[in-house]
Amino acid sequence: MPDSSVKVRIAPSPSGYLHVGTARMAISNYLFARHYGGQFFIRIEDTDKERSDKSLIDPILDALRWLQLDWDGEIVHQSQRLDIYKDYAKRILESSAGYRCFCSPQQLQKDREEASAKKLPPRYNRRCLKLTPQEIEAKLEAGEKFAIRLRIPEGVTSFEDMVLKQVSRSSDDIEDFIIARSDGTATYNLAVVVDDHDMGITHVIRGNDHVTNTFKQILIYRALGLDIPKFGHLPLILRPDKRKVSKRLGDKDVGEYRNEGLLPEAMFNYLCLLGWSPKTEREIYTPKELVEIFTEKHFNASNAVFDEEKLIAFNKKHIGLKSGHDLAVLVAPLLVDAGVRTKYWLETRWEYLRNVIDLLKERVRRLTDFVSLGHYFFDFDYKYESKAEAKQFTPESADLLEELTGRFEKLPGFDHDAIEQCLSGMANEKEVKKARLIHPTRLAVSGMSVGPGLYDILALLTQPVVVERMRKAVEHIRNMKQESQE
Ligand code: GLU
Repeated sequence: MPDSSVKVRIAPSPSGYLHVGTARMAISNYLFARHYGGQFFIRIEDTDKERSDKSLIDPILDALRWLQLDWDGEIVHQSQRLDIYKDYAKRILESSAGYRCFCSPQQLQKDREEASAKKLPPRYNRRCLKLTPQEIEAKLEAGEKFAIRLRIPEGVTSFEDMVLKQVSRSSDDIEDFIIARSDGTATYNLAVVVDDHDMGITHVIRGNDHVTNTFKQILIYRALGLDIPKFGHLPLILRPDKRKVSKRLGDKDVGEYRNEGLLPEAMFNYLCLLGWSPKTEREIYTPKELVEIFTEKHFNASNAVFDEEKLIAFNKKHIGLKSGHDLAVLVAPLLVDAGVRTKYWLETRWEYLRNVIDLLKERVRRLTDFVSLGHYFFDFDYKYESKAEAKQFTPESADLLEELTGRFEKLPGFDHDAIEQCLSGMANEKEVKKARLIHPTRLAVSGMSVGPGLYDILALLTQPVVVERMRKAVEHIRNMKQESQE
């Protein structure tokens, strides 16, 4: 049922490029918003000066755009909201849900060591909660700096998670954590609550590594008397070795997959199914179809393994779903970047490009394969595959190729059937297997030992190109022979 009040967000930190985990979270939030007809926002969590790098914001947004995750409204930047957080910290302090902590970092360290020696949990010992109003006054007058801590009420905090169902944590396991540091800046959990509240967020869908933060955030919402959104903690994406996906371990970011020729639709489809299931056998969906069927009911609770091979298999299927024209639009820039042909050349031979794409479509797994498997349709600047060359380019094959070239040249029409008849006819006459003509011819016109059907390749390349390439191959074989004799 549509619910236009739904507001969700993703909150990437610009501490790296968009990795697949964050992309998956973005896709889940996007689908949730679009399914219900609500809104999807972006917030950049850039308050951690040491870990944030402004120059990473654009690449993150580019990757989100590439995935076609169009967001609503203005992007929120936490770094522009520091004063707002201060106001909320003050409100918590004044409401007595918070208290000033004057303990120095050295003191806190000593406390922790003592607690650990006594095998007690390393929680704050509430020294400053016991200060009298006079003691506090005296410290303030002396100009002592203080942080603000949230006083955790006794009992158990629980919430109904969209994925994990009922989750609870005892207050004994949560210390009176700091919400504002002694320099007045807010800590992460306060900023998130304030932002989610101000942005009107109704559902917080994020990774299950944030469950501990959620308990703290719920206690902040309560301290401030604010409405608490619904939470959904999705499983993390793991590497095949069950470790968390990480740049440090060499895992690729979304931009790298893009450069390797993946389609955004394939990435979208695959990542969506890592934390959610349509509960059918079918796996391949367009983003539009996913918007239709996506609801919170089928979130998976267990961690999901990211399998690059599977992603590529999805990519192959999505390539198959695209029209020749749409693929040509994507492949043309790759051919230009690879220096194969100019933009102008391709644009003025659009139909040829589309025909090449149609011929190769079955065989490619990534967009870049169109270049590596099909560049010979655009230039003659290829080397013969050396293993195939040694096998196929023999003196006898030079003679056969030469004769076949002559026959091809004389054909009045150069389509698939005419080529096939010509080649079969010669094989019969010469009493040689067709393969003895097919393999060297393929190598001569493409430089490769495998590819689409030879007659299709030849017809598409056209008669003059084929004849020229075959002649060059004959010449090449004879030169080779001479060189080896010298
Ligand atoms: N910056 C956090 C992250 O990337 C966002 C967590 C949240 O969605 O609240 O994990």
